[in-house]
Amino acid sequence: MILGRLAVVGLGPGSAVWRTPEASARLAGATDLVGYGPYLALVPELTPPPVRHEFDNREEATRAQFGLDLAARGRDVVVVSSGDPGIFAMATAVVEELHRADDGRYRGVEVSIVPGVTAASAAAARVGAPLGHDFCCLSLSDVLKPWAVVEQRLEAVAGADLVVALYNPISRHRPWQLGRAMEILGGYRSPSTPVVLGRDLGRTGEAVQVTTLGALDIADVDMRTVVMVGSSTTRAFKDVDGHTWVYTPRAYPEAPS
Ligand code: SAH
Repeated sequence: MILGRLAVVGLGPGSAVWRTPEASARLAGATDLVGYGPYLALVPELTPPPVRHEFDNREEATRAQFGLDLAARGRDVVVVSSGDPGIFAMATAVVEELHRADDGRYRGVEVSIVPGVTAASAAAARVGAPLGHDFCCLSLSDVLKPWAVVEQRLEAVAGADLVVALYNPISRHRPWQLGRAMEILGGYRSPSTPVVLGRDLGRTGEAVQVTTLGALDIADVDMRTVVMVGSSTTRAFKDVDGHTWVYTPRAYPEAPS
């Protein structure tokens, strides 16, 4: 017997054109929306209006539990995430909560994850194809993992010559970490390596900037920015109309034998 259901929905970076039809359909049928305030604000007015349950950004486990409890009471719940819900977002908290609750509390609740366009794809699309070869996503936040682990990963990523998309690059409480990350990457890559800053992608005030590892000004980055640092093969150029493109060729030079 199905009681209620819960979907963790990726809203995409912002605007509705970057939202999948599946995400919009789940939102349209929901009785309850659960999420961090600024993400709920990305959801348009719906008729009939669902109940909006607003949470603080740090209360992920509480949010997940709250959503699942509502669904267990027969509601049609959508937990919202920006971008893709599986990338540094709410899908994990919900699946973790399902794993933890082994007492049958959520029996009969249908849970699904609805994917979305992640910030790195959105930024890449704006400038061309910087993620065309191997790449990785790394969160610079040390709220949920020790900073030493972040540094270790940055070293590994730099050593492996991967393009890297940095999420959660900076915040009021984490002012110096991005500078340190650039120092580590700069130890392996040339100052001319292209760097893409995508801010408020798909939202009002969107700003995309192409710079280099050597010229990057940390002051241009905030928590609504995704920072992409190229690999040794990433190239940037201006076309005849003055638009700057960034791409990473699919083919990688052969290692000298
Ligand atoms: N689930 C989200 C990521 C959440 S982590 C996704 O898949 O995109 C939050 C970080 O994502 C921010 O600090 C920022 O680095 C990035 N981000 C999310 N939305 C963004 C947007 N519209 N424009 C630029 N960066 C964004």
